[in-house]
This record gives sequence, structure tokens and C-alpha cells, in this order.
Amino acid sequence: MEIILNYINGELVEPLSKDYLDNVNPATGKVYSKVPSSLKADVDKAVESAKGAFLSWSQKSKKERSVYLLKISELILANLESFALAESIDNGKPLSLARSVDIPRAAENFKFFAEEILSFEGESFSDLGKGKNKVQYYPLGVVGCISPWNLPLYLLSWKIAPALAAGCTVVAKPSEVTPMTAFLLSKICLEAGLPPGVLNIVHGLGHHVGDAISTNGNIKAISFTGSTATGRMIAKASAETMKRLHLEMGGKNPTIVFTDCDFDRTINEVLRSAFSNQGQICLCGSRIFVERSLYKKFSEALALKVKELKVGNPLDPMTNQGSTVSKVHFDKVMKWLEIATLEGGEFLAGGVSLKLPGENSEGYFIAPTLIANLHYLCRTNQEEIFGPVATITPFDSIDEVVKMANSTEYGLAGSVWSGDEKKAQEVANLLESGIVWINTWMLRDLRTPFGGMKESGRGREGGKYILEFFSNMKNICSI
Ligand code: NAD
Repeated sequence: MEIILNYINGELVEPLSKDYLDNVNPATGKVYSKVPSSLKADVDKAVESAKGAFLSWSQKSKKERSVYLLKISELILANLESFALAESIDNGKPLSLARSVDIPRAAENFKFFAEEILSFEGESFSDLGKGKNKVQYYPLGVVGCISPWNLPLYLLSWKIAPALAAGCTVVAKPSEVTPMTAFLLSKICLEAGLPPGVLNIVHGLGHHVGDAISTNGNIKAISFTGSTATGRMIAKASAETMKRLHLEMGGKNPTIVFTDCDFDRTINEVLRSAFSNQGQICLCGSRIFVERSLYKKFSEALALKVKELKVGNPLDPMTNQGSTVSKVHFDKVMKWLEIATLEGGEFLAGGVSLKLPGENSEGYFIAPTLIANLHYLCRTNQEEIFGPVATITPFDSIDEVVKMANSTEYGLAGSVWSGDEKKAQEVANLLESGIVWINTWMLRDLRTPFGGMKESGRGREGGKYILEFFSNMKNICSI
């Protein structure tokens, strides 16, 4: 059984307590590895090591830091198959998805910020009587990166890479539910010769490791991705030490389909946007609104497609949908199916758990589910489920659909599907979301700001926005 270790001060080490948590393969329900159950003392050690490494790392040239990041990116790609397999086993997602999305994107995150940092510069202003002003960026210090289980290495590297590029040293905490690829990343960092203490990865539970990061006075900032409830806890716990916070949190994203959309393409993309990664992507469109004149045709066609999705062993190349990530999450999603039933939902597809044969018989599989006939303000349509469950609702006008789309406390992302560019842009302007896609979904240019409004987010990731977050800004004025 593989024993995962912490990565502190350039070494792979046991937790000081020598306590470990079980790491379960959700597609089999079996414990297959052990993950450190670290405590505050492990975090304190990691912070000391990051503090010790900060001066030398922050004084390296951008080019020097960039070379390390490029090396890490190359090594991830060189080990793509083993990373993808580990991600699939740890998370329950199809191996094909980990191979085509998660791991290539993790490598891309390091490569992107290795290049982006080279052109990340301050500004200058010069005006008669107002002096010559030079705005400059300086590395912030030791920072914390806390990430969730849905896109484990993809989201962890989306934080670590810009922090390191900006000259910060890092104490990172991956989700305890999916720690394996972060462990593989520590080994890659050793191979890349990353100086000791520049990156530290401490495994364990949120209320131990995450809380110790939030309350540590030597950590200057935290970039967090996870649920809104945890984001709120981090904001409270870190208030005493006045940390800078960047929070990526929950979502309940609307997908808005007009009658004039390209029908065949839209059906396939709406399906993908609702059910990719078992619906466990913060950007998934879980509330589908369809213009009434198209509603019957669209909902029937979509339900057929949902039923055709093949739920199976994540390692099988024919599988479209793997297992949900854990027993706890499986139970939560199943509870939501009961709530939707009580709220009067009509199940057009799914609505049940699935027992697969053989080694997957104890896995946490749920049939992809499409639910109609629910009021837009009911709990199923307002609260985050974060599983293979989408609702479908008709609308009669732009005003009505915008009201329904904006009715939740969340505001992460949305998509609009129409052949009328002007109308789609009008709706996009009215949506209270940090990201809106028109006739596409999850298309990403890593230079653009990524993040949510309302309870979905504070601050933005991506490009110069996250590099600024990890920097101290100074204006130098002379005459
Ligand atoms: P979670 O909030 O339970 O956990 C996220 C991370 O926070 C984990 O590493 C966890 O151990 C840690 N944590 C838990 N309690 C903590 C505490 N008290 N102090 C500090 N850290 C703590 O989220 P999850 O269940 O892992 O992930 C699913 C959630 O993530 C969903 O709500 C989803 O919408 C959200 N998410 C958001 C985005 C985005 O970009 N907005 C992206 C992916 C996932």
C-alpha cells in the first residue's frame, strides 16, 4: 500500500504525529493508500522552511524562476500516464479525462506562468508637477494555497505556479480526499532540483492543516478554492493575522438556451457542460433554462443523451462517467435526489445510484440525472449539489430567464446559446457571473480573469491578476 508523505524543506517526510488517514479509491470503495494526518506542528515546520527559502527565491531573477517552472512542466508531461492513472484512481474520474484535461492543464499551468512572469511589469506615470512615478511589484512572502478534490492537480498547480513565479514561497494543502498527484508533484520538484523550502506540501484534514495555515502569522496570503462554507471559515480564521485572501468558491451555474441556437451542437455541449467529471466541476451548468418554443424538443433530446452516457469503471476507455469522489459526497448527492423528489421534480433521466459489476460493485456511482418541473426558487435549484445532477426549466422572455439565472447566492459562470450574437451579448451583460461563455463552454485563455461574483468568489485567478495577488505593489515617486 502506497504511503503518501509530506514535502517539507526539500524532503519527503512523515507527519510528526505518525498518524495517517485512509485514502479510498471511490470506484471500488477500497482503501488503497495512506495519507498523512498532519497537525499544526507540521504546518509550522513547513512555514519555517518556506520563510528560510524566501530571501534567496525572491531574489532570483524571473528568468531563473521561470526555468524551474518549465522543468516541472516538462517532467509532468514526461510522466503524464502515471499522473493520469493516479488522478483517476484517487478521484474516480475517467482516465481518459485525466489524460486529456487534468494533467495536460497542470503542466500548462506551470508553463504558462513560467512565460507570463517574464512580461509581468509595473507601470510608469510621468506628468509635469506630479513627478515621475514608477509602480513596481515585489514578491509578497510566504503564501498558503488550499485546494479541493474535483480537479486535484489542475487546481493546486493553478495556485502554486503563479505564487512561485511571482517569487513567493509556498505552503500548500491539497484535498485530503485526493492527495496522490500532489505527492507525485513533490517527487517531480525534487527531480527538478527546486531549492528546499520553496514549495512545501502538507497533507491532512482541513480543520487541522487548513486552519493552521489560516492562523499562521508568517503566512501573508491564502489562495483558496473550495466550498463557500470553508471560504467563510478561512476568512474568519485569518482575520486576526490580516491575511490577503483570494477565494474561489461554490457555484450554481445557469445554461441559457434560445430557440435560435445550433440545435445539435448545443445539445452536445450542454450535455458536456452539465456532466463532465460527474458534474463535479465548479463551472458545470447545473441549471439549464430553455426557451419555451424549444423546450419539449430540447428536453426530450437531452434526456436521451443523458441516458446514453456510459457510467463505468473509470479505467475503461469506453466510460463517460466515473464514480463520485467519496462515500460522503455520494451520500450528499443521493440526499439531493430525495429532496428533488419531495419538491415535485420529474426525473427525465437517472435519479438512482448504480451497482456496477465486479471490482466496482462497492463504488460510489450515480446515474447521470436530469430533473424537470421544479420551481426556480426551490432548494434543488438554489443550492450547490456538485454531482451528476442537472435541472431543466422553460422560459418565455429574456427578463424572465435573467431573473431566474441571477436568483441564487452564487455568481461563478454561465453560458448562453443562441444564433443571435447581439441577443446573446445582451444576456451575457445582464448575468451576475464572473465568467460567461457564448456558444461554448469551459474555453479558457489563461491570461483572462477567472473567478466569481457574489458568494462564488473574492478576487481573480489567471494571468496578471493572480500575479498581482501574490505581489506587494510599491509606487516610487521622484522629480
Ligand atoms: P471544501 O471547501 O470542503 O475543501 C476545500 C479545501 O479546503 C480542502 O483542501 C479542505 O481540506 C480545506 N478545508 C476544509 N476545512 C477547512 C478549514 N476549516 N480551514 C482551511 N481549509 C479547510 O471543498 P471540496 O468539497 O474539496 O470541493 C468542492 C467545492 O469546491 C465546491 O463547493 C465547488 O464549487 C468548489 N470549487 C470551486 C471552484 C472555483 O473555481 N470557484 C473550483 C473547484 C471547486
